[in-house]
Amino acid sequence: MTDILRRKAALRERVSGWKRAGEVVGVVPTMGALHAGHLSLVEAAKAACDRVIVTIFVNPRQFNSASDLENYPRTEEQDAEKLAPFGVDVIYVPDPDQIYPEGFATTVSVAGLTEGLCGAHRPGHFDGVTTVVSKLFLQTGADRAYFGEKDYQQLQVVTRMATDLDIPVEVIGCPTVREADGLALSSRNLLLPPEARAAAPALNRAMRGMADKLMAGAEIATLRPLAKAEIVAAGFDEVEYLELRAAEGLAPLPKAERPARLLAAAWIGGVRLIDNIPVG
Ligand code: AMP
Repeated sequence: MTDILRRKAALRERVSGWKRAGEVVGVVPTMGALHAGHLSLVEAAKAACDRVIVTIFVNPRQFNSASDLENYPRTEEQDAEKLAPFGVDVIYVPDPDQIYPEGFATTVSVAGLTEGLCGAHRPGHFDGVTTVVSKLFLQTGADRAYFGEKDYQQLQVVTRMATDLDIPVEVIGCPTVREADGLALSSRNLLLPPEARAAAPALNRAMRGMADKLMAGAEIATLRPLAKAEIVAAGFDEVEYLELRAAEGLAPLPKAERPARLLAAAWIGGVRLIDNIPVG
């Protein structure tokens, strides 16, 4: 089994040996409850790096509600088993005081990119993400970091943060892994009641329908109410947002006039699902 390290000093010591040997270090930050989406990032990292660290930390600062944090699946043993075949070098599962020691008082915050979409509905979420991810970049000293397009806004925000802070890490985005029925893999899918799980692919299906019409020149403002009604009719409780944004920089777009991304968040069975797909 792969070594699990829980202290940053032990991690640093391990990584410094690799660095001295001139090895390229990759990191895959996760909150655990690993699935094939996470494992695709591990695979990409293994293919391009000499050494790979997978981090598992359920970051309290990026949750908006105590119940969401409490219910978040924690499956460390199974996670280690799932990682075993990939031959990663270290699983870093920091003790909470390794990330937020007594007296911790710093927040890393990215403006602009964080203001709409998930940022508008989850106050403080991205500050939690950028704070923990900057610490994981600095603690691991990784040369490359692998993130999923599944969390497209997060990918953009983390890339901006690393650039702005001169953290010498290359952020690499990897495509979303989906179930056969189109549902994007997510640790939160485990929390869906069976009926909700059966209805959940309707979100991606509606989005694909919209993307075709956007490609044919339709306006998002025309398509949105129809698509929302379709998603709710399929069994969703609420569509939080359904937006067309520039693929780079996330500026709102009325039509798919340049490389664009259709992004959505919606609630079903008490679970908030997000998805996004390229348009054009
Ligand atoms: P999480 O554990 O949810 O914080 O996710 C850790 C990393 O895995 C993030 O970079 C996510 O974007 C990525 N990820 C989660 N689900 C998927 C998926 N279905 N396909 C690809 N990457 C994913």
